[in-house]
Amino acid sequence: MGFSTDAIHAGQQPDLTTGAVITPVYLTSTYAQEELGVHKGYEYGRTHNLTRSSLEKNIAVLEKGRAGIAFSSGIAAIHSLMGLVKSGDHVIVTDSVYGGTYRLFEMIMTQYGIEFSWVDTRDIKNLEKAIKSNTKLVYTETPTNPMLTITDLSEVASVCKKNNLISVVDNTFMSPYFQNPLNFGIDIVVHSSTKYLNGHSDIIGGIVVTNNEQIDRKLRYTQNSLGAVPSPFDCWLTLRSTKTLAVRMERHEFNAKKIASFLEQHRAVKSVIYPGLSSHPQHELAKKQMRGFGGIVSFKVENFELVKSFMKKVKVFTLAESLGGVESLVCHPVTMTHESVPKEKRESFGLTDNLIRLSVGLEDIEDLIEDINSALK
Ligand SMILES: *Cc1c(COP(=O)(O)O)cnc(C)c1O
Repeated sequence: MGFSTDAIHAGQQPDLTTGAVITPVYLTSTYAQEELGVHKGYEYGRTHNLTRSSLEKNIAVLEKGRAGIAFSSGIAAIHSLMGLVKSGDHVIVTDSVYGGTYRLFEMIMTQYGIEFSWVDTRDIKNLEKAIKSNTKLVYTETPTNPMLTITDLSEVASVCKKNNLISVVDNTFMSPYFQNPLNFGIDIVVHSSTKYLNGHSDIIGGIVVTNNEQIDRKLRYTQNSLGAVPSPFDCWLTLRSTKTLAVRMERHEFNAKKIASFLEQHRAVKSVIYPGLSSHPQHELAKKQMRGFGGIVSFKVENFELVKSFMKKVKVFTLAESLGGVESLVCHPVTMTHESVPKEKRESFGLTDNLIRLSVGLEDIEDLIEDINSALK
């Protein structure tokens, strides 16, 4: 089936008791059992919920995986992956990942004896060099937030297979519409469904998808054991949202491309970062492994003073954290999303205080460009 047919139907069927076309929100913490040990497969709300399992099946199909495991946030989903390693193990991570991922690994998980190496995975040799005898897992994000650097999915998958390591990709920025890491041999895909999957800035959620039966079993055990499950209502909203993922992503990208080109020729702009521009140093790799370039555009202006005045002047763009919703947002990564990353470390990968990140929404492109243009004056 095509992407949108799957998005609208996968994991769902008319309700068995009433024929309701839309999967109901099953608001229940527990389920009646007919007699000891006899039940319909549903025992307790943390372990089983039909609205949640419909969402899990839906996104698993979109990500070309056999199973999805949903969580109450993207960070909870990433935390669950730590259930695949133990004290004394070593994990290699893309150096410019989402700030919250950095904080979880470096500030919290190191307390449990897990060791992390931060590597520029744009060059596969850096990854190979970082492998040690206790390395168990490789965690990459591509494109990264907010520098939009790209890691070669086939190369990561093949190095991990050769060295018997679990490979993970955070696919939040592309969504399954533009990129399917499992198709390249990656073991696990993780999403903050807060972003494009839900797409309407009204829930926090996360999901993990895999093709590996053993990993699926372990993560489902972790989901139930850690207990960071999403509410049935949040699952229902996300399930409603994936139905329009394709049309939303097309429009996000249409608008983002126009804005990136506009910024590129603007006098007040020093540089523009967007994988769809031929000036992006990894544009060819982007074309090879992505079916589109997404809706995030980062750019640099002369100095921090100009950043501040830009943020004050925009009217259609809202100054806020997060991304991937229908409305356009603008964010200053250094003081907002990446505040927990030390200055030296973030500057090592080019994240300076004159960088602005746009999450381009679905508004009329003329209004967005006019808004940016007047805020840059
Ligand atoms: C937002 C985000 C996360 C964290 O997800 P939450 O839903 O906020 O917990 C992880 N990775 C990326 C790339 C993100 O943008």
